[in-house]
Amino acid sequence: MLRKWIFVIGLCVSMLCCGCSEQTEASCAVDKTAVTNEDENEDEKVTRDFFAMDTYICLTAYGENGEAGIIAAENCIQDLDARLSTGNASSEIAQLNANGAGRLSEDTCVILQEALHLQKETNGAFNPLMYPIMQAWGFPTQEYRIPDDSELQKLLSLIKPENMQFSLETGTVSFSVSGMELDLGGIAKGYTSDAVMDCFCSSGVTSGMVSLGGNVQTIGTKPDGSLWRVAIRHPDKEKDFLGILETKDCAVITSGGYERYFEENGVRYHHIMDPATGKPADSDLLSVTIVSQNGLLADGLSTALFVMGLDKAISYWQAHASTFDAILYATDGTLYVTAGIQDDFSANYPCEIIQEGMQS
Ligand code: ADP
Ligand code: MG
Repeated sequence: MLRKWIFVIGLCVSMLCCGCSEQTEASCAVDKTAVTNEDENEDEKVTRDFFAMDTYICLTAYGENGEAGIIAAENCIQDLDARLSTGNASSEIAQLNANGAGRLSEDTCVILQEALHLQKETNGAFNPLMYPIMQAWGFPTQEYRIPDDSELQKLLSLIKPENMQFSLETGTVSFSVSGMELDLGGIAKGYTSDAVMDCFCSSGVTSGMVSLGGNVQTIGTKPDGSLWRVAIRHPDKEKDFLGILETKDCAVITSGGYERYFEENGVRYHHIMDPATGKPADSDLLSVTIVSQNGLLADGLSTALFVMGLDKAISYWQAHASTFDAILYATDGTLYVTAGIQDDFSANYPCEIIQEGMQS
């Protein structure tokens, strides 16, 4: 399995744009994307790197309230991790999964509500009940195996949202089929990066960013008023970039089959499952980056559009162009960028612009 890589990027953007991957200066732990380090106000910058939510997290905040913002954000991340983790037996989610019923806190209810909404909106490509299938493939424990078709058929009966009862008012959840289990891993980091922005905002931080394993969200602009420059990793070339996105007040969240996977007999099995088959999505996309002011939406959609594949992903964007933009990298090596960010994205490779009216 490919290990999540920490890398440090302090190179100037022009080098990045030329495809040069030389690394010169420590800055931030990231994997799928990197925020380039061209800070002029180093003395007003506070950073914190730590491991939580099964990934490397990097917080950056500028200005006199930076330290307070970072402390609030770190506490918030640790708190959400303790509540949402499927692998931590005492978390709300693990307790619910173990007991088949339970009561969720307000934050978790909001995430579940949104996850169920996305499940409907994406025609089932996003599904928050994938945990039995993730376990069957061995992803939570890294004891990988390939379940046979009859096992998968049985497991597919455990991921039907209609067999879950959920009340947003009381926070109660129960499953009517034994063995059903929640997994908010496809959306939790996006909710968390939204929450970090809220922490920054209420601490008086007007310029900052969080990277959760390369899922980036920013508040405001950089202190000098310039836009954040987020480099999107090339899925096939660990140290190369598809391009650089200039952005502010946005989440930039990527899903790809290159991140967590195992190989058996030369076949790669990755961690984004198709709820229609119970198998790793046989997608013609290698990487999906979603750009949106809503981190939770960006995270959920990065997973869902990967499952949908190129044509459906394009149609989905065309029907929802006001809420997000996307950068898609297909298995045939074509890079696609939606029209809403075409002026903000400097592609390192030839790229096709997806227009709102274009037929897929
Ligand atoms: P990552 O969290 O690794 O950056 P994703 O956001 O795409 O990547 O989330 C993948 C995780 O989401 C998996 O590890 C699993 O917990 C969960 N998951 C897998 N397939 C789906 C799916 N079709 N819908 C919703 N969640 C999924
Ligand atoms: Mg996701």
